[in-house]
Amino acid sequence: MAQYDVVIIGSGLGGLESAYILSKEGFKVLVLEKNRQLGGSLQIFVREKAIFDTGIHYIGGLNDGQNLNQSFKYFDIMDKLHLHKMDEDGFDRITFDGDENEYFHAQGYGNFVEQLVKKFPAERNAINTYVKNIQEICDYFPLYQLKEDNAPIIGTKYLDVNAKEFIASLTPNLKLQNVLAGSNPLYAGEGEKTPLYVHALVVNTYIESSYKCVNGGAQIEKLLTKNIKALGGEIRNYAEVKRIVETDGVVKFVELKDGERIEGKNFISNIHPATTMNILESTKIKNAYRHRLQGLENSSSAFIIDVVLKPNSFKYLNYNIYHYKRNDVWTGVYKIGNEWPDGYCIFVPKSSKSDEYADCLTILCYMPFSEVKKWENTFATIPRQNESRGQEYEDFKQKYAERAIDEVEKKFPDIRSKIQSYTSSTPLTYRDYIGARDGGLYGIAKDYRDPLKTFISPKTKISNLYFTGQNLNMHGVLGVTVGAIRTCGEFVGQNYLIRKINQA
Ligand SMILES: Cc1cc2nc3c(=O)[nH]c(=O)nc-3n(C[C@H](O)[C@H](O)[C@H](O)COP(=O)(O)OP(=O)(O)OC[C@H]3O[C@@H](n4cnc5c(N)ncnc54)[C@H](O)[C@@H]3O)c2cc1C
Repeated sequence: MAQYDVVIIGSGLGGLESAYILSKEGFKVLVLEKNRQLGGSLQIFVREKAIFDTGIHYIGGLNDGQNLNQSFKYFDIMDKLHLHKMDEDGFDRITFDGDENEYFHAQGYGNFVEQLVKKFPAERNAINTYVKNIQEICDYFPLYQLKEDNAPIIGTKYLDVNAKEFIASLTPNLKLQNVLAGSNPLYAGEGEKTPLYVHALVVNTYIESSYKCVNGGAQIEKLLTKNIKALGGEIRNYAEVKRIVETDGVVKFVELKDGERIEGKNFISNIHPATTMNILESTKIKNAYRHRLQGLENSSSAFIIDVVLKPNSFKYLNYNIYHYKRNDVWTGVYKIGNEWPDGYCIFVPKSSKSDEYADCLTILCYMPFSEVKKWENTFATIPRQNESRGQEYEDFKQKYAERAIDEVEKKFPDIRSKIQSYTSSTPLTYRDYIGARDGGLYGIAKDYRDPLKTFISPKTKISNLYFTGQNLNMHGVLGVTVGAIRTCGEFVGQNYLIRKINQA
């Protein structure tokens, strides 16, 4: 007789949120995590006492009454989080080589319009139309507003509209088009592919409100973990699932790396659907389904430089910078070789040590997996960093880190004198420590040309195996939370769950 009602594979945000919801609803839950640290992309790491985030630089929708605030109340973490509100007039700033201006994305739709009109006075109508459309598109996704939803996603307006083309249709002003889409590394935007709804759902949450987690986003994992355990849930680290085994039409057990078998009545995979298919042993799954999931393209990966700053040398920035070498924000994911990088993002973590100075910053540049493909057969994970990929790889990392810093230096001419040390990571790093396919930052890439192909149902072809996490719905704290609601809705009813969340 299985000991657990639900076994969850992976302790990313989606796995932990699902564990909390189902434990609260009386299910006996076990979470299995391959790494030492829990939380997946919620993890932080420390270098020379500076705290770096891996995958949570800022979070939207956390003002009182907003969707994520309400969800976090339900998870009983909202009033315990240590948050810092970002600059209301410009939480994201878009900049370009050869242009002195900083273009602000502001919090609150009225303020968003006014800040942009300062730079584009003749474009008020276009900017107004843009914000009206963004809000209207979000209304087509009721779960994002924590509204009950019985309608199938199929046929939803805007699914097949391209973000770049839509923005271009609002104004002939090329600079404004690029400014409006300027934070597109938030969703690894590709001009030829990214649907408008992806752009809208992501920017909407940050325009509503933008916060940083003080001393990093791992506090979300810590609080969720504590709450899950208080509800009777169990969480195990160093528990890598190597096999998911189906017999007689249902998954009976998963097998860990050391051979231990864990039985369950239901299983939720918080890992990539394609990776799930790789470890699923089942005759019930048709090859067409397997191939469909395994063939889906992932969003781009990145090269990331984590910089420890000399004490009291660099003023804390209460905003993010999205910088581009050219007046085109849509092609960065494709740039390789001498053209790399096409631009960069700078995220400055908020530390509790100082309001005035930053102790570190993160520089993120897109990088396709092809750049590191030659080392694809090497593996290294952060908790057990005893494997090296060789000197050639280290030289590659240093060369590319220096190139990225050269670009940043054009904007911050004295930055090198403020750097105490830095480390860098590549698409391989992310692949190995999260298990993300090809190091893709945000999982499966959405495509407006075939939108339904990239929608993953929480239900699989096996009745007691489900998906959750960023590949399901959308990435990001909000996208993954909505995904957890969909997954757990399969167990307790989606509208019932929405009501519970709204009553919290
Ligand atoms: C660089 C970067 C920056 C980001 N910035 C932001 C941001 O500023 N704001 C925001 O809202 N979102 C941001 N995101 C997105 C956000 O972090 C993710 O969408 C979200 O955390 C993903 O959650 P998930 O539930 O899909 O799990 P993941 O974080 O993908 O975790 C999956 C977990 O499963 C574990 N696992 C994998 N294989 C196995 C196995 N076989 N057995 C057991 N465990 C396994 C992994 O170790 C991991 O812990 C960022 C992402 C990245 C990569």
